[in-house]
Amino acid sequence: MSLNKDQYDNIMADYARIRDRHRRELEKRRTQAYARIPALQKLEEQTPALAVDQLRRRLRSSAGSSGPGNGAGSIPGAPADRKDQKTSFRETAAQITARRIRLLTENGFPADYLEMKWDCPDCRDTGYIGREKCHCLKQREISVLYNQSRLETLAAGADFSLLSEKYYTGEDLDRFRNALRVCRIFVEQFDTVHRNLYLYGTVGTGKTMLSVCTAKALIEKGRSVLYFSAASLFDRLADCTFSSGSRDGLRGFLDDLYTCDLLIIDDLGTEFTNAFVASQLFTCISERELNRHSTIISTNLSLRELQARYSDRVFSRITSTYEICKITGKDIRLQRRRRGRYG
Ligand SMILES: [Zn+2]
Repeated sequence: MSLNKDQYDNIMADYARIRDRHRRELEKRRTQAYARIPALQKLEEQTPALAVDQLRRRLRSSAGSSGPGNGAGSIPGAPADRKDQKTSFRETAAQITARRIRLLTENGFPADYLEMKWDCPDCRDTGYIGREKCHCLKQREISVLYNQSRLETLAAGADFSLLSEKYYTGEDLDRFRNALRVCRIFVEQFDTVHRNLYLYGTVGTGKTMLSVCTAKALIEKGRSVLYFSAASLFDRLADCTFSSGSRDGLRGFLDDLYTCDLLIIDDLGTEFTNAFVASQLFTCISERELNRHSTIISTNLSLRELQARYSDRVFSRITSTYEICKITGKDIRLQRRRRGRYG
């Protein structure tokens, strides 16, 4: 699927707002630093003059080297001169940078205090790297096209380091630790080892949060992640497949579904399952496997229930190509309610 003009313009306007915000913040930092370090302001003001001076000297010298007095005989020497000038220009720039950093750090500021910051350093908040769309723009497109608000809400407070062991004991704790370890490795080795995960177990044991933490870590690494609850995924597939006139929409959707870096299907088994759903699930996981794109499925269904509900071939594909993690325990939401919100 692709964005309409308004959606695209909104995203680009948002990038412009982000760049403006960073420019204003840099100005604020600069004012603050100059107020405390007058020598820094003096140095910054001299920097353009030094650069112009260097450039002037360079131009003068290259004009001289091709002048009549030098003749053709001077040409072989010219590149070496230019090289020397470049080197001296670089040395001057490096000295200025070193002095700026020294002034900042001596006065208690971080070394990069006057560096421009970006939300996405890869594209410098423009959405593009050269002519190619940056990963951050691709993720924004996904977010607009497929309403990823649930993932975004959950991801806001998600981090592997914040997942607590206090809700688990005994065998449940061992299983949770194992699942957490598997998810962390999944992220660490995402670019080198192709994996899929099947997180299953009783209700409210943290499967969704594990997959959301995984998604967040990968989005931060610049990978595209598409998240669906099983019900919304199959509803959308049915809408695109059976509504007239949405063939292009279906093609675009399937393209995104099959090729995003990570697909998360949350709560498999809570949708109304029928032959259409079973066949779409098989095609989806097969296509993704064919393209070597990773998928995480979280579900309350045991493997036996999976087989009974979706067919032998779905069962066979998942047990042969997915890492299976069982997570058990008491419902975390219930435990939280009993202990109070921050218990
Ligand atoms: Zn970017």
